[in-house]
Amino acid sequence: MEFSTLLIHAGQDRDPATGASSVPIYLASTYSQPDPENPAQYDYARSGNPTRDALEKAMAEIEGGAMALAFSSGMAALSSTLLLFQPGDHLIAGTDIYGGTYRALTEMFSRWGLKTSFVDTTDPAQIEAAVTASTRAILIETPSNPLLRITGLDAVSAIARKHGLLAIADGTFTTPFLQQPLKHGFDLVIHSATKFLNGHSDVVAGIVVAGSRELGERIRFIQNAFGAVPGVQDCWLLMRGLKTLGVRLAAEQDAAGWLAEQLQSLPQVIRVHYPALVGHPGREIHAQQASGGGGILSFELESPALTRAFLRNVHLPLIAVSLGGVESIMTYPATMSHAAMPPKERARRGIGDNLVRLSVGLEAPVDLLADICQALEKGLRESVSA
Ligand SMILES: *Cc1c(COP(=O)(O)O)cnc(C)c1O
Repeated sequence: MEFSTLLIHAGQDRDPATGASSVPIYLASTYSQPDPENPAQYDYARSGNPTRDALEKAMAEIEGGAMALAFSSGMAALSSTLLLFQPGDHLIAGTDIYGGTYRALTEMFSRWGLKTSFVDTTDPAQIEAAVTASTRAILIETPSNPLLRITGLDAVSAIARKHGLLAIADGTFTTPFLQQPLKHGFDLVIHSATKFLNGHSDVVAGIVVAGSRELGERIRFIQNAFGAVPGVQDCWLLMRGLKTLGVRLAAEQDAAGWLAEQLQSLPQVIRVHYPALVGHPGREIHAQQASGGGGILSFELESPALTRAFLRNVHLPLIAVSLGGVESIMTYPATMSHAAMPPKERARRGIGDNLVRLSVGLEAPVDLLADICQALEKGLRESVSA
């Protein structure tokens, strides 16, 4: 079936018990066991819940995986996945990964004996050079956050196969609407479902999709043993959000592409980062592995002072962390999404104090552009007079 059909029908198509048009929210923590010697399909809600099952089935189909498991947040999904490994194991992760992932790896899992090398995964040679005898996995994000750098999925999965490593993608920025890493030989895809998958900035949740049943079962064991499961109402909201994922992202992507081009022609904007822009590094690789540029762009203004004054004068987009909502969200990585990263690390990674990230929502693009232009004008006056 086509992707848009799966979004409506996969896993969540009519309640088998009643025919209800949406899967009921099963608010039960435990289930009656008529035969104590033979456990029923459901026994305890951490281990399984029909509403969560429906969401997991939908996500597995939508992502083209063998199994999906839902978690209480994107970080819970990521941290639970990292429990596949053991003290002494080594990971290779991208330099541009999500700040919270960087924090979990360097401040939590490092204490527990999991070592990580951060390399520029846009360059396969650097990944290859970082492989050691104890390396177990490569963790990447493409496009990366917030500079939208492109890592080749096929190149990463080839290195992983050659050395017997797991290839893991954080697919939060793209969702299966744009990119399906499992089809490029990846083993696991992790999502912060808080973002595009739910899409309405009202749920925190995470998803792991496994390419094989065997790996899926190992993640399911961790899901139950570690216990970072999502609430049932959140599972239901997430399924509702999924139904419009395609139409939302298509519109957001169109608007983002148009805005990226408009921003390029503004004198105070010195650089625009967007995967579909002519001249964007890795644009050709992105075009081979994704169906479009996506809904997120970032841009650099003339100075940090102008950037801060600009952000004070923006009205339409929410100035906030997070992304992928129906409302546009503008983030100042220096103090928001990447605050967990030490300033020296940030600077080394090219995330300057003049960088703004924009997750484009469903507002009319002309209104967004008009708001950006007025905020630049006011910001310019304020930063000059200051
Ligand atoms: C937000 C985000 C996460 C973390 O997800 P939470 O739901 O906030 O825990 C991980 N990776 C990326 C790329 C994100 O944007």
